[in-house]
Amino acid sequence: MGAWCFADHMGPADVTKKHGLDIGPHPHAGLQTVTWLVSGEAVHHDSLGTEQLIAPGQLNLMTAGKGVSHSEEATGQYEGSLHGIQLWIAQPDATRGLAPAFEHHGELPRLEMANLGATVLVGSFEGVTSPARHDTDLVGLELVVRGPTVLPLRRDYEYAIIVLEGALLVRDELLEPGHLGYLSSGDDELFVDASPFARAMFLGGVPFKSEVLMWWNFVARSRQEIDDAFTSWRNDDGRFGTVTSPLSRIETTAPYWRRASS
Ligand code: MN
Repeated sequence: MGAWCFADHMGPADVTKKHGLDIGPHPHAGLQTVTWLVSGEAVHHDSLGTEQLIAPGQLNLMTAGKGVSHSEEATGQYEGSLHGIQLWIAQPDATRGLAPAFEHHGELPRLEMANLGATVLVGSFEGVTSPARHDTDLVGLELVVRGPTVLPLRRDYEYAIIVLEGALLVRDELLEPGHLGYLSSGDDELFVDASPFARAMFLGGVPFKSEVLMWWNFVARSRQEIDDAFTSWRNDDGRFGTVTSPLSRIETTAPYWRRASS
């Protein structure tokens, strides 16, 4: 939907002070990671030298560009429920070959409307704009719906809805966690309802121009680009930098098309 290309709904699960996401150093290229928590805490480390605790209501936004690596770890302090989502945004050709970057936003703009609370992670909604970087025309919101509501849409955007808690009535279909609701472009508004409440990510954007090829942690345009990224990570040639982490570096097998031809 727009440049939004992947979603990983995490938990809810119980974590300890020592064990949480426990995702060791691994590479990314050609995408932004958008990390958002509903409950719990986690720590992000990356090859830019960033160490960043994230808590509910905060945004970790990592732009991979030509290459970055990171780990996602337990905090050493927090124990209890961990629940959240990580979304990926495909970068356009104009920025996907550029340097990596990281942003943390501890506070984000919010709107309160009848039966609706919205937090603007990226882009703009109802005249409220997030300070977060975006490389294409898109929006990302967390919605808390507490009754019948009409959401304004942009006619040039397509949208996805991912429910994190509760169940959301979208027009006449009930959407629950584990499913993604899709809306094609061309509509002005969307009726939603929930009782007593539902929490959902609402993601939209102008349909992405380029064909996106995703493999493992890479977003590219061709198999050759994926092959090059895989080889750089396997050989640790410096493209993805180094993450200081107690966790082991994550390796993977070669892309299937390479295995088939060798
Ligand atoms: Mn990652």
